Amino acid sequence: MKLDVDVLRYLSKDDFRVLTAVELGMRNHEIVPSDLIDRIASLKHGGTYKVLKNLLKHKLLHHDSSKYDGFRLTYLGYDFLAIKTMVNRGVFTAVGRQIGVGKESDIFEVAREDGTVMAMKLHRLGRTSFRAVKTKRDYLRHRSSYNWLYLSRLAALKEYAFMKALEEHGFPVPNAVDCNRHCVVMSLIQGYPLVQVKQLQNPETVFDTIIGLVVHLAEHGLIHCDFNEFNIMIDDDEKVTMIDFPQMVSVSHRNAQMYFDRDIECIFKFFGKRFNLSFEERSDDVDDSEVETEESGRPTFSSITKTAGFLDKELAASGFTTKDQDDIQKFIEGNVAEDDVSDNEHESESCQTNIKGFDSLNLDQEEDNQNADDAQLMKSLAKQRRRAMAAAR
Ligand code: ADP
Ligand code: MG
Repeated sequence: MKLDVDVLRYLSKDDFRVLTAVELGMRNHEIVPSDLIDRIASLKHGGTYKVLKNLLKHKLLHHDSSKYDGFRLTYLGYDFLAIKTMVNRGVFTAVGRQIGVGKESDIFEVAREDGTVMAMKLHRLGRTSFRAVKTKRDYLRHRSSYNWLYLSRLAALKEYAFMKALEEHGFPVPNAVDCNRHCVVMSLIQGYPLVQVKQLQNPETVFDTIIGLVVHLAEHGLIHCDFNEFNIMIDDDEKVTMIDFPQMVSVSHRNAQMYFDRDIECIFKFFGKRFNLSFEERSDDVDDSEVETEESGRPTFSSITKTAGFLDKELAASGFTTKDQDDIQKFIEGNVAEDDVSDNEHESESCQTNIKGFDSLNLDQEEDNQNADDAQLMKSLAKQRRRAMAAAR
């Protein structure tokens, strides 16, 4: 997807005001009625309608008049809100080229005033998986006001929290810089995804490092769940960095064993095929700890989790409520049950009834609220982590 940030420069304060009004309206409307947008934005002399046209022209909004006249944010519109916040916070001043297209994200280079280049990941949960759950129309209809906005925001928050915690525990991950809405800013990894690497000086060492990472994660109570050649970066010195954490689960997850084995299997398969490693004769030196291995050299899950650490609990307490975790997990696993969403019935149809509640909202404060939300979360994360570490000692 193209991210034409030049448009950002031409957008006025009023444009952002109306864009934010649509975002607010989307908290409980799939399509936000035009008159509600107008009331939230409260621009003078019908200014909202002119602005809506402009935002539509730049594809920041989508117009829908099938049930009533209304708008919703496009990905691009949501991107702009997050980018604007990041720029306001002084996280970066410029957006550069796209450096990655993930399954459910777009990754861009961003730069600070001093020229430091970082990576910005814009989560797009729903881009692929929503198609898979589309048959579950109930889920979409009842939760659609929250669908990709909500899930992408959760994914970003989870990724940011995990990246920070993993970094603090010495794992080779990018440095987590900041997070807002569906956007995570992190340090730029110099290197390539393993999938692009055709040759290694020391494939065995790299292999051991990578398997060691899966094992150490499990020792800390976590499973990556998407640990493969696309999510492992290698630099010219063959240093390994792991990326992409929104789908991580705790070793206490009911399918933990399966996820762990799958992660291990991916690495074994890839190294066998790409670098012709054979594993049978090296089954003893996968790791120097007391990790048990099968005859094939694959570490066994049960021997690791006997001693599993506290990071999963620490993260569980990081501001992700169990419900957040459930929501995102169900979505990722694609098994959203209909009774999970029945509480929101008729929401999208009842567009008029919600208008009142918005009158008291102060739009100018909305950005501050978002920032405060994020700050609160980070504070509680830090506190929980300190507590967990003290308990572990
Ligand atoms: P997805 O969750 O969509 O798979 P990833 O986090 O795996 O997204 O990122 C997709 C691609 O973007 C990666 O394969 C990598 O090429 C690139 N990328 C992601 N994060 C970084 C980073 N911090 N530095 C450099 N490249 C990155
Ligand atoms: Mg990935």
